Amino acid sequence: MSSISENIEKIEKGLKQETRLVAVTKTKPVEILMEAYQAGARCFGENKVQEMTSKYEQLPKDIEWHMIGHLQSNKVKYMASYVALVHSVDSFKLLKEINKEAKKHDRVICCLLQIYIASEETKFGLSQEEAIEIVTSPELKNLTNIQISGLMGMASNTPDLAIVRSEFRALKALFDSFKKYKNERVKMEELSMGMSGDYQIAMEEGSTLVRVGSAIFGSR
Ligand SMILES: *Cc1c(COP(=O)(O)O)cnc(C)c1O
Repeated sequence: MSSISENIEKIEKGLKQETRLVAVTKTKPVEILMEAYQAGARCFGENKVQEMTSKYEQLPKDIEWHMIGHLQSNKVKYMASYVALVHSVDSFKLLKEINKEAKKHDRVICCLLQIYIASEETKFGLSQEEAIEIVTSPELKNLTNIQISGLMGMASNTPDLAIVRSEFRALKALFDSFKKYKNERVKMEELSMGMSGDYQIAMEEGSTLVRVGSAIFGSR
C-alpha cells in the first residue's frame, strides 16, 4: 500500500507545468488533510460548505480552499471570507449571491462555470448556450466582486476512454472560444477537468486544474 505522500509525489511528478493538483479531501478527517499538507499539497477541494469551513478553521492558513461540489445559494455566506475558487457555478443566481457575499468581505471571488459535458443525466452544469448567456450578460458588469476565471466539467463515468477524451476536448474548445468574451469580469485562465480515473487524459487535453481524490487518499 502506498502512502499519501507517495501518491501526491507520483501525481505531481506526472503533471505538466501548467496543470495544478487540487487534492480532493471530501469526507477525509483533518489528520489526513494534514498528512497531505505535510507532503506539500496546498490546494484542497471539498464539496460541502460546512465540512470545508470546519477544516479551514482547523488547518494552516496558507491552504487554498476550492469548492468543487454543487452549491446552494444560502451556503455561500459561510465560505465567502476565505474560499479561493468556486468550480461549480451553475446559475446566474448563484453568481449574484457569491458577488453579494464577497462584497461584504471586500473580496473578489474567482468562479468557474460548470459546463455539462457528459452524456449522463445526473450531472449538474450549464449548457453551452446558458454559459454564453452568463458571460455576455450586461448585468455582469455590476458584479464587481466576482470574476469568471474559467470553466469546469466532469466527463462521463465510462470505461470508454475515447468518449472521455472527446468530452474533454469539446470542453477545451469551448474554453478557447470563450476567450473572445474577455472583459473586466471574464478571464478564461483555468480549465478544471480530470479526476482520479481520467486526469492524465484531461491534462493531455489542456486541463489547468485536476481534481484528484481517491488516487491520493484511497476509496471513500
Ligand atoms: C469527488 C470529486 C472529485 C474527485 O473524485 P476522485 O474520483 O476521487 O478523484 C472530483 N471532482 C468532483 C466535482 C468531485 O465531487
